[in-house]
Amino acid sequence: MSSTMWSVDEHLDDILGAVRPLEPIELQLHDAQGCVLVEDVFVEIALPPFDNSAMDGYAVRVADVDGADEEFPVVLTVIGDIAAGSGGLPDGRSVGPGEAARIMTGAPLPAGAEAVVPVEWTDGGTGGGPADAMRAHRDAPEGAGGEVRVHRPVEARAHVRDRGSDVRPGELALPAGSVIGPPQIGLLAAIGRATVKVRPRPRVVVISTGAELAQPGEELTGGRIYDSNSFALTAAARDAGAIAYRVGAVTDDPDALRATIEDQLIRADIVVTTGGVSVGAYDVVKEALSSVGDADEPGGVDFRKIAMQPGKPQGFGSIGPDRTPLFALPGNPVSAYVSFELFVRPAIRALMGLADLYRPTVRATLKADKALSSPAGRRQFLRGSYDVEAGTVTPVGGAGSHLVAALARADALIVLPEDVTSAEPGTDTEVVLLR
Ligand code: AMP
Ligand code: MG
Repeated sequence: MSSTMWSVDEHLDDILGAVRPLEPIELQLHDAQGCVLVEDVFVEIALPPFDNSAMDGYAVRVADVDGADEEFPVVLTVIGDIAAGSGGLPDGRSVGPGEAARIMTGAPLPAGAEAVVPVEWTDGGTGGGPADAMRAHRDAPEGAGGEVRVHRPVEARAHVRDRGSDVRPGELALPAGSVIGPPQIGLLAAIGRATVKVRPRPRVVVISTGAELAQPGEELTGGRIYDSNSFALTAAARDAGAIAYRVGAVTDDPDALRATIEDQLIRADIVVTTGGVSVGAYDVVKEALSSVGDADEPGGVDFRKIAMQPGKPQGFGSIGPDRTPLFALPGNPVSAYVSFELFVRPAIRALMGLADLYRPTVRATLKADKALSSPAGRRQFLRGSYDVEAGTVTPVGGAGSHLVAALARADALIVLPEDVTSAEPGTDTEVVLLR
């Protein structure tokens, strides 16, 4: 254990200086969700790929329907049907003077036609009203001939989606650095891309330690508590964008812990342990980590005191042949969670190559019945409830780092700086928003 205290910022700088973005890989679109693109993606096809109808209706020549109205509809000969997915009119026919083609939304505009008259502006070939028109249009058999009465004129290109009106070949679809969200996945699929080159999600292995830990669902026998850390931190890792593996609780035996960590290294970009680091506690994590892998390997985990509350004792370093970053977080659930938020989450995001590593912070007015006390020389993180309308933050529960129910009710961390020993109600404070 280093004897000097590390500030929160020094510890974080040390972590971010040690982690590098993961090497890019080619991923299927869905697997790339939330990841950062590392290539400029150019469009190779036009979108739409061809002129097509924006409506169900009739493809016509503009001059034919000029002056059409309810009283004096224009009568056109229906020469065929064009469904979405069809190649156009049969035998490569085009729409000639006095003719129309029945056309569906998304179907290619046939040669000769200049616009689409929506079916609502016609009799649908029935001689009846708009309701008949819609039904008839929908139900008419393929290749139906006959006539259609058009009640309104259209301008050239009306109800036509022009080829390339969305994007054209050669245009930049998404620049490198884009974060792949649902609309970006949609665009990539629309231009025909099945895979993209991105930085992958880090794989985070979460291991809790403690002989006292029982698994939820098991019976709780004397002196035991349920392992909540491995669940909370696995969820937090997922929330940060990682692929998370919950290994669960390992008993307080350095050999067992070392064996577990060595087993897990194969699938880990980050290892997170909880417990076994408190001063005076049986230092199982420390002992196990002093001899992970080969003794000649560089790296190692430094156990330090961080000038913060909660979360003072913890470790960070790298282990194994790939120098995998390892976070040895405290065992107390609030300490573990706050430490994860402050240190592991930014590291995960740095591995992903994201520009935005941190939770948003705001300033808010402290709303409390009495002054909050805070230890001198340590940055305190209290659980709070943030009211965006009022611009206030209210402490939830006390400072105790075992208070998991209060943590579950909180949506923010109230930050009291190192030099503050007491914060009066009404004080302007920094708040980290957790949601
Ligand atoms: P330790 O640092 O291992 O002494 O743990 C500090 C405190 O946190 C003890 O009260 C532990 O019982 C508790 N604790 C440790 N690990 C967990 C866990 N995975 N889930 C819930 N509480 C834990
Ligand atoms: Mg323990």
